[in-house]
Amino acid sequence: MIHYRPQKIYIDRAVCDSPITKNILDSFSDIPREYIEGKPEFLNTLHQYPDPIFEGKKYLWVTKNHGKLVKKCGASTSSLQNVVCCNYTILDFSFNCHFECMYCFLQEYTNLPMMVVYANIKDMLTSVQEVLNSASSRNIRIGTGEMADSLALDEVTGFSQHLVPFFANQKKALLELKTKSTCIKNLLNMDPKGQTVIAWTLSPELYAQKYDLKTASIKERLEAARLCQKAGYKIAFHLDPLIQEPTWKEDYKQLVDELFDQFNLEWVSLGALRFNANLKTIIQRRFPNSFLITGEFVSTPDGKKRYIRSIREEMYETLQGYILQKKTKTPVYLCMESDLVWKNVMGYAPETQEALERYLTGRDSPIKSGNDRGVAK
Ligand code: SF4
Repeated sequence: MIHYRPQKIYIDRAVCDSPITKNILDSFSDIPREYIEGKPEFLNTLHQYPDPIFEGKKYLWVTKNHGKLVKKCGASTSSLQNVVCCNYTILDFSFNCHFECMYCFLQEYTNLPMMVVYANIKDMLTSVQEVLNSASSRNIRIGTGEMADSLALDEVTGFSQHLVPFFANQKKALLELKTKSTCIKNLLNMDPKGQTVIAWTLSPELYAQKYDLKTASIKERLEAARLCQKAGYKIAFHLDPLIQEPTWKEDYKQLVDELFDQFNLEWVSLGALRFNANLKTIIQRRFPNSFLITGEFVSTPDGKKRYIRSIREEMYETLQGYILQKKTKTPVYLCMESDLVWKNVMGYAPETQEALERYLTGRDSPIKSGNDRGVAK
């Protein structure tokens, strides 16, 4: 894994006093810094570079998130008809990631191609508390891994030292920290009291070597997961994106065997490779020798390209078959797929987002009708 080290840090004067800002400046004490108001000016010069996305990540902007700090995942408002959403809630704590996964959708955000950390942690916790106070559900899943890797910078920022104790005192919500890193040092000294799930995104080792350029290897991610499980954290895995390499059936079989033989899992998600036209152009420009997006893809109503439905269904069915052989009660869900694909693969589609959310938090069956093929609890 390559650890992040910026060339320069820009600090918004509005977050000078934040403990997150202090942690960052202490960790990078030898790196030039500049206190500013507004956006760093160098953003206007990035277009001069052959790869502005790579260039921009050399700079870290520590600032305040003035927007909505807690929001629903985009899938819940997706234009993809009949998409089944898991009702996920996002806490916006950072933006961008230095890990350089070839398929990463963050590459599309060319208006802000730098590393951004939102240091207004107090506002974040207040916003989460307000959401929890007004929520009737006791099955809320809140994650930080939507616009950044949840832990890639944790040993620099110390976010987890605020979030894990906060959620340890909640009964209505689980915190999910989603990562491809091994940055778990802060986690091992805290008691999550069953309220934090650490989720690793995984693929077969050779695929990670080809497509996840700066992340921890799969072996390292699984070793970190073992340590977190031992320290009392709940563990989950996301097999996403599923990639159709010539030997995908054997490769994913080996991965599933390894996961279910070693871990008690909270949930597993499956999601086939997807990208939109913009991202396709960026991937082709940045990684011209990659075979990632060669193959048969179709457009879906949300503007994304995906493997044709029969291929996606075959991949999901095959993996679900491997998982069922394990006689596990771990909930499995499909990420951003239509109810038609759910029904064809799982034999049912969750009736509501809330039903799926209750299923994932172990409190209910996801269906009230249909057969229960694939529903393990
Ligand atoms: S780890 Fe996640 S956020 Fe980071 S580059 Fe890879 S896909 Fe993007």
